[in-house]
This record gives sequence, structure tokens and C-alpha cells, in this order.
Amino acid sequence: MDEIRIRELQVYAYHGVFPEENEKGQFFYVNATLYTDTRKAGMTDELGDATDYGQVCHLITRVMTENTWKLIERAAEVVAEEILLSCPLVKKVHLEIRKPNAPVGLPFASVSVAVERGWHKVYLAVGSNMGDKQRHIAQALNAIKANPKIKVGAVSDWIVTKPYGVTEQEDFLNGALEIDTLFTPGELLDFLHMVEAGEGRERTLRWGPRTLDLDILFYDRLVYEDDRLIIPHVDLQNRDFVLQPMAQIAPNLRHPVLGKTMNELWKELDSKLHNQGCVATH
Ligand code: AMP
Repeated sequence: MDEIRIRELQVYAYHGVFPEENEKGQFFYVNATLYTDTRKAGMTDELGDATDYGQVCHLITRVMTENTWKLIERAAEVVAEEILLSCPLVKKVHLEIRKPNAPVGLPFASVSVAVERGWHKVYLAVGSNMGDKQRHIAQALNAIKANPKIKVGAVSDWIVTKPYGVTEQEDFLNGALEIDTLFTPGELLDFLHMVEAGEGRERTLRWGPRTLDLDILFYDRLVYEDDRLIIPHVDLQNRDFVLQPMAQIAPNLRHPVLGKTMNELWKELDSKLHNQGCVATH
């Protein structure tokens, strides 16, 4: 990726744990590297095709001076996020805030906090099999679209599928969507649980009926597991109702562990299910 580099932007601001820092203020120095694609601007020579680094310097100064935080960690977090929200061409930012006059009481040159933040490409599976399914899904999409930390990209068709696991329940409406997000995987899961709860989802029976089910299928090419999350979703290769919409919106996306594309996984599963004489695919 190409880079735009801002070095040692000087800002007089009031961040610090000690009251005198908030009253008197001090100089901070900001280094920002914006990761972007400068090819179009390089070809057209038009500012409209570029990220205006002057505006970015003013944005950093405004965010740093309009707020008073205890920690430069907080300042770095907010400044990085504001840059990513305001500059559509910037995919990732590396930001360092330096505080050379921090009241440490010992001779030292400088102290700084550096963070790297960016947009992440995520695929979500969506399902509903209770109540007004179309409405639950439409409301979920609205809630997802309304979140500033999420940009919704491709949305699949909605397909009617048979239940999986516990089969004595209503048919499902299923689909998948592509989003770009600033959330970490854990934050995204919390947000999706909130959206599910907003549609009256109660977590009772595993594989049981649900007003709304939102699963994280992929998060960039991350392979990750903790006590709440497994990414890529552990069972997606066995779910026709996930692979069919994924094959529609991201046919060439390659599973980072299985090494096969969505199209390949869907075709494999589809022929397996047909050979078993099992066309009911949820
Ligand atoms: P369910 O909504 O019934 O599919 O189950 C969701 C639960 O599975 C959540 O509470 C998560 O803690 C856990 N889980 C594990 N991996 C994932 C994932 N990739 N996406 C969503 N939930 C996950």
C-alpha cells in the first residue's frame, strides 16, 4: 500500500493525569502514516482523487485541542478513528503521539504512544426463523448500517432453507453480507449480540428457533480462537445456507485454513448433499 506521512505536527494541548497538565498544557508532537492507494491521484493530478494531508493536519489539531484526556492512549485512539472516518481513501493509519515534556521527574528525551488502526473486511451470516423474518432481517440491516464504525458492502439474496440441527422448527430465511468495520472481533461480536437482542433474540436452545442470528464468518484473513469466538466460523463449510449466499457475494474468497474458495466449498457440499439424497440444506 502507498503511504502519506505527516511528521512531528506540533499541537499545544492539555492532556495528562496531573491537574497542572490540564491547566497549563504542553506541546505534543504527532506522527501519522496514512495507508492508502495514491495511484489515481498520481495519474490525474487532481486533489479530489487524493487524501488532503492539510485537512488531516487540521483534523488532528482540532481533535487534540477540543478535548482534554488523561491519557495519550485515548488521544491516539480518537485521532486514529477520526482520520479513518473522515478519509474514505485511507484504509489504515499508524499514529504516534509524543509527549517530550511529560512530568516524569527524570531526565529523558521523549515518551510516545503508537497505535495502528484500520478498516477490516468482514463477512457475516444472517438468519431468522421466528416471527416476521423479513422484518427482523431488515431491522438488523438498518441497525448495522446505522453504526458509523461499519460500512455495508455486498448483500446476498435472501434464501429460504430448512432447519439444521433441531429440525422440528420453521424454515429459515438466510443470507450473508460483506462489511468493512473498525471494530475488533470481540467488539463486533458484542455489537451483533446487541442487534440480536434488539430483535428479541433469547439464547435458549442451541440450534433452536431464533428471531435473528448473526455470525462472523471471516475477519480479514484472521485465524483466531478464544473462549467466545472462533474465526473463521467453525462450521461454515458444512452449511449450505451460508455457502450459497457467500458464493454469490464473494465467489473467489479463499478460506484461510481450508484453502478453498467459497465457490469450491459450496459446489463440494452441494454435490455431497445430493449424493446423500439430502437436498434439505439448513
Ligand atoms: P449462535 O448465535 O447460536 O450461532 O451462537 C453464537 C455463540 O457462538 C456466540 O455467543 C459466540 O460466543 C459463539 N461464537 C463462536 N464463534 C463465533 C463466530 N464466528 N460468530 C458468532 N458467534 C460465534
